[in-house]
Amino acid sequence: MSLGERFPTDTDDGLLLIISGPSGVGKTTITRGVERSIPDSVFSVSWTTRPRTAADVEGVDYHFATDEEFEAMKARGGFLETAGIYGKKYGTPRDWVTEQLKRGRLVILEIDVEGAKQVKRKVPDAYSIFILPPNEESLLLRLRSRKREDEAAIQRRFGAAQREIAEGKSCGIYDLFLVNEHADECTRTAVEAVTRERARRKR
Ligand code: 5GP
Repeated sequence: MSLGERFPTDTDDGLLLIISGPSGVGKTTITRGVERSIPDSVFSVSWTTRPRTAADVEGVDYHFATDEEFEAMKARGGFLETAGIYGKKYGTPRDWVTEQLKRGRLVILEIDVEGAKQVKRKVPDAYSIFILPPNEESLLLRLRSRKREDEAAIQRRFGAAQREIAEGKSCGIYDLFLVNEHADECTRTAVEAVTRERARRKR
């Protein structure tokens, strides 16, 4: 199908939504909640070189790639942005995102601050939300409760999360900061903000 063709459902409402936040803040729950609540929204499935965990579904959570596959995609300009996180590579597939935006969809990227900065440079009218924990203690408890790693790894992630928060607050690219006290409420606020933003841009 060529990019020029239009579906009956196509609109001019396309909006790129960036959702960032530190590891353990609960952003996946919020991201998926926003996706469920907004009918024409689509989640951008990133490429990554990190190993697949038992909880991950290929093509739903990520496209799991080898380092060679990732680098080949990057070399042909296939990524809108890329980032290195905990020694692994992550990237947003450019053509898929472009096509969905042309169709008028709300395209959701759940990416880190490093990637968000690149996207904002290329797509300045992207709308960006940063999710914050109610306090640092809650973040540490959340990281521990996932039982994914030993305490040393948890402390490393906690340090990285603190740096991600500091960078998110100071980099000047986020349109909205939301504190995730209760996931349902935070999701609702995010949905309202995005809906308002789309309506504002339409006027
Ligand atoms: P995890 O490996 O725990 O699923 O994700 C680690 C971090 O990578 C999270 O902060 C997540 O938001 C971020 N991430 C996932 N996909 C991408 C991507 O395509 N680009 C960037 N820049 N970050 C990503």
